Amino acid sequence: MKYYVNDSCIGCGLCAGTCPEVFSMSDTGVAVAIDEEVAEDVQNSAAEAKDGCPVGAIEEA
Ligand code: SF4
Repeated sequence: MKYYVNDSCIGCGLCAGTCPEVFSMSDTGVAVAIDEEVAEDVQNSAAEAKDGCPVGAIEEA
C-alpha cells in the first residue's frame, strides 16, 4: 500500500508527527508521503495518520 497527500492539506503536521516514516513536511509547508510501499511495521501508524488528518487529505494511492 502507498499513500499520497492531496491538495487539501493545510500543513498541520499531524501526519508527520504520527508516522514520520511515511509522511514529512515539504519546503512549501504541506505534507508529502514517501513514494514507495509502506513497510508492514509502520502500516498501523500510517493508517492512524490517515484517519487523523483533519481535512481528509491523505488518500491511498
Ligand atoms: S495531517 Fe493532513 S492536513 Fe495535516 S499535514 Fe498531514 S496531510 Fe496535511
